Amino acid sequence: MKNLSIEKIRKSVEEAEHFSDDKRKSLQEQRLESLVLYAAKNSNFFAELYKDIPKNFKLEDLPVTSKKQLMPYFEDWVTDKDITIKSLENYFSDMENIGNPFLEKYSVLTTSGTTGQPLWMVRDKFHADVHGSLMAERLFKRFGIADLLDISKNRCASVLGTGGFHSAVCSFERMRKNSINPDNLLLCSILEPVPEIVKKLNNFNPVVLTGYPSVLAVLAREKIEGRLEISPKAIACSAEQLTDYAFDMMKKAFDAEITNSFCSTEGGEIAFNCKKGNMHLNDDWIIVEPVDENNNPVKDGKMSSAVLVTNLSSYLQPIIRYKIEDSIIIENEKCSCKSMLPVIKIMGRSGDNLTFISSGKSRAIAPVMLNFIITKTNGILQFQFVQKSEKNLELRALYSPEYDKNQVKREISKYVLELLKDNDLDEVKFEISDKAPVASKGGKIKSVCVEI
Ligand SMILES: [Zn+2]
Repeated sequence: MKNLSIEKIRKSVEEAEHFSDDKRKSLQEQRLESLVLYAAKNSNFFAELYKDIPKNFKLEDLPVTSKKQLMPYFEDWVTDKDITIKSLENYFSDMENIGNPFLEKYSVLTTSGTTGQPLWMVRDKFHADVHGSLMAERLFKRFGIADLLDISKNRCASVLGTGGFHSAVCSFERMRKNSINPDNLLLCSILEPVPEIVKKLNNFNPVVLTGYPSVLAVLAREKIEGRLEISPKAIACSAEQLTDYAFDMMKKAFDAEITNSFCSTEGGEIAFNCKKGNMHLNDDWIIVEPVDENNNPVKDGKMSSAVLVTNLSSYLQPIIRYKIEDSIIIENEKCSCKSMLPVIKIMGRSGDNLTFISSGKSRAIAPVMLNFIITKTNGILQFQFVQKSEKNLELRALYSPEYDKNQVKREISKYVLELLKDNDLDEVKFEISDKAPVASKGGKIKSVCVEI
């Protein structure tokens, strides 16, 4: 399976979108069998985990896995013995390596990891070919924007969380390092003040704009209010749920095609939007099982509390029934576009956009900007930013006992106050309360929310 040529992969991706559910299911089963046999043979961890599974196993026979369980055995998990913790630590220690191949052939990502150890993910050429083919066929072709994305001809600006080996930043740097025209690429950090980002974008005038939906929604507001002057032809969102709010703001602000990819470091390109605005699950290459708190299956049409992901193209680092904390719904009904792929709704992955008023002017803060502050601070186990009024922001948090709580609080306050100041929100008061984060009705803790 992992020796398929890119041409064959691309053809299969094109065809499978129109297969019946049964035909896609059987393709999924073939690919699962191939992956499981490979993992059992080439990963010490999976050899042990699968030693008692039946010969004619079904997906449900395979034990559930998680980051917490797998990361301590990282070297036993991966299927190439040249990948060692030491070699990866070396690679990560040099920020110049962002976008460079690891061991001259692999790409490497890490999650930001707000709690505990971050996840390391290594990907090989097969994985890249499958995921590149999914993007090309099911996103760029669908929206007719493949030519626009040719960065040798067009300018592309990205607004991302920089300063780490995160998925979108690594892709961006890889593009820049391989491009014949790197001046066509501009990277802005989500931690730069919004007026600064606006100024840079106005100077650069991109044809394509990419980033997290919540940040792009803030920029859409800047455009509507006349400060941002760019007119991109395509806007590519990723990594977060695209809320109706963000989508509507972007539609109102820009005359552009808006694409959205729901991706995760472990699962890859899980789902893409279509022209009808629905998210379609790439279930020929990624198996997604919505489950409840006890890992029992949740029926179609009902919201899950977590998801078990199986990435059928990840042979180098097998992701099989791997639990991620996202709430999703798989819809019963097909979309009215021509795709046969199931429609999924993704919930609770990001928080609300917050709008504050200072000196009589309103300004929005995207949840990812606040979430990013937490990823830069050690010592937080769980957190929740709550907007209490037009001028009040509160943080509720649980702290790791290994850290000095007061020191952690001082560090966060410093970052939050900087963010508020940079966005001309001097009148907004920030307070760290002694309350613990509060779960919503669905049982999930929203990291950024409004309580007015
Ligand atoms: Zn559709």
